[in-house]
Amino acid sequence: MPTRVLYWFRTDLRLHDSPALKAALDLNPEVFLDCQNAVSDGLSQLNSKSRLLVVRESPLTILPKLFKAWNISHLVFEKDTDSYARRRDDEVVSKAKEVGVECIIKSGRTLWDSDDIVGINGGPTMTTTQLQKAGQKLGPPPRPIPTPTPIPAPGDLSLKHVTQGHPGPEYFNADQNQLNRSSEDSTYHSGLRGPNGDFSVPTMEELKMAASTPHRGGEKIALEILEKIINDKQFTATFSKPDTAPTAFQPASTCLLSPHMHFGSISCRKFYWVVLDVIEQWEKSGKKATEPPCSLTGQLFFRDMYFAAQAGIGTYFGQTLHNPKVRYIPWHLPSKHQPNPDDPTKSLLVKGTYNVDNKEAEEWFLRWREGRTGFPWIDAIMIQLKTEGWVHHLARHAVACFLTRGGCYIDWERGAEVFEEWLLDHEIACNAGNWQWLSCTAFFSQFMRIYSPITFPQKTDKEGNYVRHYIPQLKNFPEKYIYEPWKCPIADQRAAGCVIGKDYPKPMFDWKDRKEICIRGMKAAFEAGYHGSDVDVINGKAREILKERFGNDIEGDADTASKNEPGEQKGKAKPETRPRASQSGSVKLPVKRGQTTLDAMFVRKKVKPEDETIPPPPNPIVKRGNPDLSEIIDEIINATKAAKSRLEGDHHDIRKRQDSTSSTSTVTSTHTHTSISTFSQTTTSTELEQTETSTATSTSTVSTSTVLATVTATGTPNGVGRVSPSDPQAVMVAGWISLVYLTAMVLKLVKVVNY
Ligand SMILES: Cc1cc2nc3c(=O)[nH]c(=O)nc-3n(C[C@H](O)[C@H](O)[C@H](O)COP(=O)(O)OP(=O)(O)OC[C@H]3O[C@@H](n4cnc5c(N)ncnc54)[C@H](O)[C@@H]3O)c2cc1C
Repeated sequence: MPTRVLYWFRTDLRLHDSPALKAALDLNPEVFLDCQNAVSDGLSQLNSKSRLLVVRESPLTILPKLFKAWNISHLVFEKDTDSYARRRDDEVVSKAKEVGVECIIKSGRTLWDSDDIVGINGGPTMTTTQLQKAGQKLGPPPRPIPTPTPIPAPGDLSLKHVTQGHPGPEYFNADQNQLNRSSEDSTYHSGLRGPNGDFSVPTMEELKMAASTPHRGGEKIALEILEKIINDKQFTATFSKPDTAPTAFQPASTCLLSPHMHFGSISCRKFYWVVLDVIEQWEKSGKKATEPPCSLTGQLFFRDMYFAAQAGIGTYFGQTLHNPKVRYIPWHLPSKHQPNPDDPTKSLLVKGTYNVDNKEAEEWFLRWREGRTGFPWIDAIMIQLKTEGWVHHLARHAVACFLTRGGCYIDWERGAEVFEEWLLDHEIACNAGNWQWLSCTAFFSQFMRIYSPITFPQKTDKEGNYVRHYIPQLKNFPEKYIYEPWKCPIADQRAAGCVIGKDYPKPMFDWKDRKEICIRGMKAAFEAGYHGSDVDVINGKAREILKERFGNDIEGDADTASKNEPGEQKGKAKPETRPRASQSGSVKLPVKRGQTTLDAMFVRKKVKPEDETIPPPPNPIVKRGNPDLSEIIDEIINATKAAKSRLEGDHHDIRKRQDSTSSTSTVTSTHTHTSISTFSQTTTSTELEQTETSTATSTSTVSTSTVLATVTATGTPNGVGRVSPSDPQAVMVAGWISLVYLTAMVLKLVKVVNY
């Protein structure tokens, strides 16, 4: 049998440094069928007969058909450790085995294979120190491999006797992006080969969507961005994340490469090594470079840490329930759950819908989501996110903190779903992980550090240029009131052409009050010490038990918040599991030794991400039987530093640093993004239908195939395969955005938003 290799593109839309693609070509295929996109042009350059083939059907059903129709001997793809992807891939591999197709899977999405990191670390990595230690044991990440030289052309691509599988009549009713389309999507129903019969990448027109982002995609553009970054040796070698301005736009103050990392149009190993090479040269010339975790390489470690955390925890990484690492907080708008079809022990998975336990909280959530909170800094970020699909890391900090522990006391899972829908760079691992960090439910625990929606942006943008850009109503507002417009005298409001309450909303609550309420709730929840895998949480009793013990404090209730200190137990009931906190009422604030957090970096650098009015953290109490005194010492040091930082807050100095950083950054980015204007996570149907895009390539000749997958949340896969109810959300969103992204890359249909 001739070697006919089907290369399946998924998380690796590139030709450079692709270990999986290399493995495919190392088979010396007679025929190489590839399935991909911006890659399409690259493939054509390597062989004019080659291009991306997009096959419109679920990978689970179409791949077995392609094995037969194209006489495939090998299937090769990059390893994907997302839990839904593991399940999908396991099924594909077993179907391939059944028909004698050999599967080759290579790691290439992260610096190190996340499963190897988990093995060496002995579990999920919850700190970058753990990641780096495990990485050291594995040795440095492999150096990038070169782009392949000419590849064989695709052979016969006929699909005789192959019919398209259809997901069923309910498909369009359950299309979660339906609201983002001007009319019904026509690409799937145009057949396996698409409307022109040539396996073309779907166009925006076929998808009935319009792009609104200025960012553009594709390997060529990604490599150009990277080139620009490393040509600026100072920027690259002295990059320090805490010094970059979240308010900088056009250009941004960081690399803006994360969407390319998501689509795999840049290799993270290439990114890592070219940066490291610049740093080495810089240091050889006697100059000091920054180090992880602040440095650029440090940022890549954060990414790998989240991937290895997800790989270690598995299915429950993206939710609180059943997750042993995530602290349980009885937030408002908790998720609804449904049975995990893959788990005989009857565990539950988030459904993508939520319980409205508090109407006011829901109103806050909807206003947050749409950028109508009345806090211009928060609203500008949400508007940028929604229209452009990317915002700076610290801007993400600000809105995530505001929604959860720093204002609304709403479940982080709600925020993660909105980010999942709108981010161009959405990764389940990085998104859920960062939301857990910001909500202080995992990775980070210093809940007293709260970002002020008023003073934080002033540090880098006193004039409010960022706000004026994204909220044109406030364009002419006086600088003094740009972050607190409700305080502006009415005459000045009229003169600026923006009356608060009429042209721009009043603030939805008194933020300082809310902040105190949230801190009380967090204190109580930390004292209780519940985690997602605790029995009371799994049985759904934890909220009531905590309410009995702590009163309404525990739910961040604005009206009836208890005045009792968290340590004063109100009821008889007491959590049965993990009573971690001291009985004195003081809250232990664990700070992992050796783990430097971004927030801690601010403290060290005397920058204050948190509001100045925050009281210092309570004194840590050394508990009997707590052997780790170093943690306590760290806490004391941190608390002292925080207090010192509050006293010494050096805005001007920081601003100078940030200005110089952003002026040296000439980074521009070019991705495409569909402006998705509706909340797609509220599907209530258990027959939830998902659509996924993926890409595959086959060869000795090259062809590409993107596959539209339809799966059900019920485990009734329409002949497609089972995917857990939580994961299809990601499959769906990431999938469609990928498709939109790819399409837009090809068509260059970029509609710059008219702000
Ligand atoms: C609530 C929240 C949600 C987030 N969701 C995502 C997500 O879905 N996908 C995603 O890639 N990043 C996510 N991040 C992390 C981070 O905000 C982005 O990776 C970063 O802003 C990308 O911009 P950049 O390329 O300019 O980053 P740079 O600062 O230039 O960093 C270079 C690269 O390092 C990686 N990186 C940097 N910081 C982080 C981090 N904290 N976690 C993981 N990777 C990091 C990215 O791949 C990035 O491209 C999230 C952060 C928060 C606070």
